[in-house]
Amino acid sequence: MSQKRKSLKNPRNLAFLRQNGRCYYCHQPIWQQNPEQYAQQHGLSLQQAQRMQCTGEHLKAHKDGGPANTENIVAACLCVTSKDIDLSIYLRYRSIVSDLLLLDWICMMLIGEAMIRSVGAL
Ligand SMILES: [Zn+2]
Repeated sequence: MSQKRKSLKNPRNLAFLRQNGRCYYCHQPIWQQNPEQYAQQHGLSLQQAQRMQCTGEHLKAHKDGGPANTENIVAACLCVTSKDIDLSIYLRYRSIVSDLLLLDWICMMLIGEAMIRSVGAL
């Protein structure tokens, strides 16, 4: 009998769909094919987007006899599965970005109001 490790592609694709394109562990959106589009959608650099690539993860480890089937494979991002990247850094980054966007929006509103006022004064 062959000991060749079964491809995770099919169970991973199914897990990706089952989880609505989100990581099993951190619930962040993940991508399967297009990091450029993902980076654009989420306001990230390409390097940051690389960490959110969908990977197939065994719930029960392969070495412990966990099968490569849909029951045992979940879709997860790299930031959870690679141990040298701290997920909290990403989450902190996301909260800073949304704060900056809010500030931008407030600035636009103030500038807009000032312009209306100066036009009205003419
Ligand atoms: Zn994750």
